[in-house]
Parts: sequence; C-alpha cells; structure tokens
Amino acid sequence: MKKTTSIHHISAIVGNPKETVAFYSSVLGLRLIKKTVNFDDPGTYHLYFGDEQGSPGTILTFFPWPNAYKGTVGTGQVGTTLFQVDTNALDFWFERLQSFNIKATREIVFEEETLYFSDPHGLSLGIVARSGSVTHTWKSSDIPDDKMILGFAGAQLLSTHADKTSELVEQVLGFEQIAESETYTRFKSSEQVGHTLDIKKVEPITGSFGVGTVHHIAFRAKDEVDHLDWQNFLMENGYLTTEIKDRDYFKAMYFKEHGDIIMEIATDTPGFSVDEPLEHLGETLQLPEWLESKRILIEHHLPPLS
Ligand code: ZN
Repeated sequence: MKKTTSIHHISAIVGNPKETVAFYSSVLGLRLIKKTVNFDDPGTYHLYFGDEQGSPGTILTFFPWPNAYKGTVGTGQVGTTLFQVDTNALDFWFERLQSFNIKATREIVFEEETLYFSDPHGLSLGIVARSGSVTHTWKSSDIPDDKMILGFAGAQLLSTHADKTSELVEQVLGFEQIAESETYTRFKSSEQVGHTLDIKKVEPITGSFGVGTVHHIAFRAKDEVDHLDWQNFLMENGYLTTEIKDRDYFKAMYFKEHGDIIMEIATDTPGFSVDEPLEHLGETLQLPEWLESKRILIEHHLPPLS
C-alpha cells in the first residue's frame, strides 16, 4: 500500500492575471514563485504562488483566462481551497479581508475556526486556524510574521459519489479518516500542511469548469521512481492515468477518480529553483526549453502583470 504525505498543489481557473497577482500577493501575502505559460496553451499564463521555495503543500497555481466563461462550483471539483494560519491569526485575517472590502463569514468546522471568502473571480477560499508546528518562510511588508499564511490546511471535495471518493482517499491515497459530521467526512495525511481532505456528503449541483473553479488537485510523490510506483499502483486499483508529463518543476500524471474530480500525482523534485535562483523566483517569465525560440512572440502576446 502507498501513502501520499499531503496535497502537492491545487490548480484553478481564474480571470484577469493582473487581478490574480494583486490579490494573492498583496492581499493574501503569498509569494509569486513562478511566472510561466500554460504548457498546453502557451498564449496564456500559468502563475504559481506558494511559500518562499514553493514547498509542496503550499502551491496554488492559476490558469488566468480573462475571456473565459464563469464556471459553476459543484460536484466533480474541489469546492473550497483552505489555507492554514496559526490559531492566533484569525481575527487579524477577518479584519484584513474587511479592510480590502472582501466579505468573509466565520464558521466552526471540526472544532476549527474557519473564514470563508472568495477571490476576485469567485474562487471559493477559506482560512483555517490550526495549531501545528509549521513556520512560514516568506515575509510580507504589511502582514506580521506570526499571522502569515502557512500553506494549505487542505481542501473540501465535492464528489458525485462521496463513498467512492472516500474509498480512494483512504485506500489508494493513504489518508486516514479522523472525523465525521453531518456535512463532511474528514481525512488526514502525515504532513503538517495540505494534510486534510473534507469530503462533502451531499452536493446536489453539478459543477462545470470555468472562471472561479478549481481544475484539479495534486498529491505528492517523492521523486520520479516513486511517481512510477504511483502510476502502477493507480492502474492496479482500476484508475486510468495519463502518461507522465514533464512540467519542468515537477513530473505530473493525471487521473479522474470515480467521483469525477480530476486528480494528479506530482513529484517533489526538481522544484522551482531549477530555472532561476531562489531569491528571484517569479520575477521574470520562465519558459520551457521547447518554447524559448518563441519567447519574443509569447512575451508580446501576454498582458503585463504590473
Ligand atoms: Zn497540476
């Protein structure tokens, strides 16, 4: 049996890229760790945010498509992406979001205080106050160090077949069921970030992809050898995976689980410092080698971010 240690990254579809950078960098205080293009659609950006190094479990990535249709959050998707902060930080975030005119609601979920809000393009987000041993590794000019977002708490999954998704999460991905409420079943993995999955029991609306929805959620494989093991393990368990794709910063392999959520297994290696130094991550447009010859054309086509 295999076990993933946590979420690797979550990828979402949003609108205007400039608004996305402003919100995730300036409001939420995440680091823009990579400015590149969508390898499957090089005329558009692929923007990565995370902690200082872009550690697995902190990486939120965006496909900004300003002219795309708005999606519907519903089954077959990740519903809410949850960030983690220290238990002393929730009041700070409630006030900070208000100061940016972002409406947030406060709820207790599995005994944890949680703030729910949306990004400028309608993506459903939450901030969970959770005690743990995580320390942040990125600084913001106007967020105190002990209030910074530490990475993901986890994600809420909206499955078309909650029982089948639970089975996958527990028996294939290796999470452990730790709690159950009327609304959610909670599963946990071994890491300190990106380590809880809440599967919603009933979700009558069918989701459709578009602006403001999560496209897929990725889980960690240690390295390329482990990645191949995962591919075999998923196949043995009846999941059809894609071929292994080189995303430059990790190797990726996708599959659709039986609750219709698109999932990925991504390697921790080589990471985001492979094409630019750590201290300058995200500052200049990085392209895969096979697109370097088209750089001028691509740069001309992409809208400026600041
Ligand atoms: Zn991905």
